[in-house]
Amino acid sequence: MRLVDSHCHLQADRFDADVDQVIGAARLAGVERILVPGWDPASSRGALELVDRFPVLDASVGVHPHDAERVDDAAWAEVAALASDPRVIATGETGLDYDRLFSPIPAQLANLRRNLRLAAETGKPAILHCRSAAGQRDAQDALLGEIRAYGATPPPVLIHSFSGPVDYAEAMLDLGAAISFSGLSFRAGEESTAEVARRTPADRILVETDSPFLSPPGAPRRRNEPEWVRVTAAWIAELRGEDRDVFGDRLVANFDRMFARVAARR
Ligand SMILES: [Zn+2]
Repeated sequence: MRLVDSHCHLQADRFDADVDQVIGAARLAGVERILVPGWDPASSRGALELVDRFPVLDASVGVHPHDAERVDDAAWAEVAALASDPRVIATGETGLDYDRLFSPIPAQLANLRRNLRLAAETGKPAILHCRSAAGQRDAQDALLGEIRAYGATPPPVLIHSFSGPVDYAEAMLDLGAAISFSGLSFRAGEESTAEVARRTPADRILVETDSPFLSPPGAPRRRNEPEWVRVTAAWIAELRGEDRDVFGDRLVANFDRMFARVAARR
């Protein structure tokens, strides 16, 4: 089965010792595209360094909601400058996290807005993290409000590691969003994700690991790796009643179309 991993933090220090073996194992498992998103200036630079070493990778640069408060205007200017690099195919990851609140909500909103503006300016889709506390949807509703504020011309967005109710997914799809599914889909409290995976249009669906986090069933708990995207991809193909090979071809085609600059790089 052909595969992509649309969200994989291979620049994290937990991969320093063996990143080449991890990428080799992913290639053997059929993974043909791996997007490495930054979460702050240093990890955004780290993503670009990895892309130079491994041509299968692509980079994204941006600031995660957890880091929103730590990144000042000068640090943001550095991230924004990196966004025009041709090796960078997306903006983020960014978004809102009202569950853990490592940064206060006003800082998260200000950070999200400048990442979204960057996506609108560059045309490189914003990769959006969105989590609310168990049983809540305040972060999802706030995120929807921010995209809707753009009116008729919203920036291109990809909902990463989907979490939230079905009507939130449908509202995002109405705004043109694509949706990526991770090992989070299998966890308690995320039951609505299966229905979202069935309803997402075929040309707007991606899969990811969010390595080193969010191991799907069967993957090592201590460190998720890109090869394990096959578990999530197989589950979604089955949910949708699609042949795995057809679904795999679609994943690669979706990745290349959504991140149009990939074609220019390859
Ligand atoms: Zn991430």
